[in-house]
Amino acid sequence: MNVAEPPPASKRGGGRVCVFADLPELVTFTADVERSPTDPTGRRHGPATRRMLDLLDETGARGTFFVLGEVADSMPGLVREIAARGHEVASHGQRHLPLEALSPALLREEASRARRVLEDLTGAAVTGFRAPYFSLTAETEWAPDALAEAGYAYSSSVLPAQCFLHGHAGVPARPFAWPCGLLELPVPVARIWGHRVPMLGGMYLRYLPPFDVPIMIRRLEGPLVWTYCHPYDLDTEEPFTWDREIGLTRSLFLRMNRRITLRRLRALHAGRLSIPLAERLAEARAHAGGGAPAPQSNGSAEEATVVSEL
Ligand SMILES: [Zn+2]
Repeated sequence: MNVAEPPPASKRGGGRVCVFADLPELVTFTADVERSPTDPTGRRHGPATRRMLDLLDETGARGTFFVLGEVADSMPGLVREIAARGHEVASHGQRHLPLEALSPALLREEASRARRVLEDLTGAAVTGFRAPYFSLTAETEWAPDALAEAGYAYSSSVLPAQCFLHGHAGVPARPFAWPCGLLELPVPVARIWGHRVPMLGGMYLRYLPPFDVPIMIRRLEGPLVWTYCHPYDLDTEEPFTWDREIGLTRSLFLRMNRRITLRRLRALHAGRLSIPLAERLAEARAHAGGGAPAPQSNGSAEEATVVSEL
C-alpha cells in the first residue's frame, strides 16, 4: 500500500515549527521489540529494529528496548547488538500475552526466564519489565509482586487512564511504588477536558492531529517523560497485510501513517537528551515520594477517557 506523505507537521509564517518544542529536554526513547501483527513471516522485525537503532544513532539518543523473550530466543544476535550500541535491554515478557492471560506463578516463571536469557545475552543486569499491551490494570494488581519476585526493579506497564482495552485510571500519572517496592513508570498522559489521554507513542503519536500536539504537551501530567513505539511502527516498506484475526480496520491503522511516526520521532528526539529508563530510577523515586504505595484499586476510576489502545 502506498500512503501519501502528509504535509509538514506544523508551519507558522512560512517557517517550520517543531510541534514538540515544549517537551522537556530529557525524553527517553523506548521500544517494544516484537513481531509486527501484520507480518505473517516474522522476518521483518530484525531489519526494522536495526533501522530504529540507526535512527537513534542519528539523534544521539540512548534508549530502553523491551525485548520479547520469543524474539531473544530466535534472534540472540539482535539483542546483543541493541546492548552493544549503548541501549538498555529490558523485558517485554516471554510471550506477547496480556497479564490477565497468565497466573501469578506463570508470570513469575516466564519473567524470570526472560530476564536470565537477556542477561546471559547482554552480560548486563536486566531490571525493567513492560507488560504487553500495558496490561497492568486493576484486575492484574497481583503482577507487581510476581515481577519483584522475578528480580525486576521497575515496571513500565501501566496506562493511567480509562481505555477501551487496558488502562488503570486509579493510579497516579507520576512514577510511584507498588506496595512490594516495585517502581512503576506510567505511560505519560495529558489531561484533556478532565480525561487522561496518552500521546507519545503507538497509534496516538501516529494519528494525533499536529495542531493538538502542542496543546497536549502543555498538559502532560507525568514528570518523567518517555516515548514508545515498535519496530514495525517505523517499517515504512512493509507490504499491507489484511490480518483476518485483528480485522481490516485495525490492519489498516497498523499500516498507515508510518512515515509520520518516523518523522515525529526524529523531530522529537533531535536535539533532545535520551537516556535509558534504568538510569532515571533515582529521579523516578524522587517523584514517587520515597516509595509511597500506590492506591489499591476499588473499582472507582477517577477518569472516564474512552480511547482505544490500538
Ligand atoms: Zn508489545
